[in-house]
Amino acid sequence: MKAQPPASHFIDGEYVEDINGAAFDSIYPATGEVIARLHAATPAIVDRAIASAKRAQGEWAAMSPTARGRILKRAADIMRERNRELSELETLDTGKPIQETIVADPTSGADAFEFFGGVAAAALNGDYIPLGGDFAFTKRVPLGVCVGIGAWNYPQQIACWKGAPALISGNAMVFKPSENTPLGALKIAEILFEAGLPKGLYNVIQGDRSTGPLLVNHKDVAKVSLTGSVETGRKVAGAAASQLKHVTMELGGKSPLIVFDDADLESAIGGAMLGNFYSTGQVCSNGTRVFVQKGIKQKFLSRLKERTEKIIIGDPMVEETQLGPMVSRAQLDKVFAYIEKGKAEGATLLTGGGIPNDVPAEGTYIQPTVFADVTDDMTIAREEIFGPVMCVLDFDNEDEVIARANGTEFGLSAGVFTSDLTRAHRVVDRLEAGTLWINTYNLAPVEVPFGGSKQSGFGRENSLAALNHYTELKSVYVAMSPVQAPY
Ligand code: NAD
Repeated sequence: MKAQPPASHFIDGEYVEDINGAAFDSIYPATGEVIARLHAATPAIVDRAIASAKRAQGEWAAMSPTARGRILKRAADIMRERNRELSELETLDTGKPIQETIVADPTSGADAFEFFGGVAAAALNGDYIPLGGDFAFTKRVPLGVCVGIGAWNYPQQIACWKGAPALISGNAMVFKPSENTPLGALKIAEILFEAGLPKGLYNVIQGDRSTGPLLVNHKDVAKVSLTGSVETGRKVAGAAASQLKHVTMELGGKSPLIVFDDADLESAIGGAMLGNFYSTGQVCSNGTRVFVQKGIKQKFLSRLKERTEKIIIGDPMVEETQLGPMVSRAQLDKVFAYIEKGKAEGATLLTGGGIPNDVPAEGTYIQPTVFADVTDDMTIAREEIFGPVMCVLDFDNEDEVIARANGTEFGLSAGVFTSDLTRAHRVVDRLEAGTLWINTYNLAPVEVPFGGSKQSGFGRENSLAALNHYTELKSVYVAMSPVQAPY
């Protein structure tokens, strides 16, 4: 299988190569095959991408938002027409099963172009402020050249979730995908260009943690939006802060999912499984600490085990496959190390924990894993694992579980399953997280703000709220009478 793009970077409306950049392979995690060979951006490529974005941005910002939106909506249409092809590419990039990518990846990217292309024109208006004779007005203006840096779990979605609000607001974007999943963003750039986006407005360059700083520190960059780990977030936010650049930080989590004993049991188990095993557990907002009230603990665990052991693991390109490999060998090793730690610290391994049968030896597969009897102090309950490992913890009452759920440095997401409506609202009010769910988990439609609090980051993606993070206000005071100077 090959997925070799014409060149490593997409700059100024065309593919560009610079073989002086360090070569790296793109690996299909289901088989270990090398599917493409690329080069990381050299400083010259970074400069070229940013210079091209800077050149293009002024004219783009001067267009009406409706005209900009028309191009984004056309890109959304093209993405939907090519959903199969893009989903297969996403599967090659990440190893996620086609069953998922066909409904969740290019489609959610297209949603972003459609939503921002359609509604943002009206949302970019300013205010009129009456001042008794005099008045003021505000203008919402773009920031300039914005940098997007992506994680490897949703490469196409992240490229679109950052690109759509940046572009509709009149900015240019230079996007760097994760070195683990370099392919999808190039296609997004190609499609935007095909949809009529003027050259230079959405450039993609490749590279890793040594390339990122070249972008973040570049003098012509006004804003950085990162999706990545807390550790990377601290570095990127620190570098951006030293130059007073705007930042959006979409970082990691260790989110609580609370199941009260009056919950619809099958629904709660389904939510917990989706919130731990979807995308082979590589989802930032996953509810990896599942707090189950003691009254239903045994029933919950036995049905969870039964349902988990039926998950179909295998070739991600086969429609029936429900769980693919992890994105890379390094990530797989990290997850196995956490599983060993879980066992050593006394958690009960309910199911999984090993390599599934009948998968290619070079594939980075792991069984969906559930630990029960997990306590708050265990490493697996405190650190983000980023793999298909669910930790089940027991609790007695509401006050106790809220305090324990909040006892973490993270604050990305949280969920509650209960049939008591007032309790559901009381609990979400007290949970410290940016994105919460009642009686479901992990749904993130483009209409709803998405993002974290505490160490999980700041700023919001999706919804009109995202526009605040890609624009700034200009206030203009207009005097209607001569200046009365006392001297
Ligand atoms: P990572 O932090 O290792 O890398 C993220 C990106 O940052 C990559 O493109 C990487 O090359 C780049 N990078 C690394 N160091 C950098 C530096 N010093 N300066 C600039 N760029 C740098 O994360 P990952 O392993 O790719 O992704 C997994 C993490 O992402 C998890 O912690 C997960 O929770 C988080 N994530 C968060 C969200 C969200 O929306 N909150 C979504 C997806 C993933």
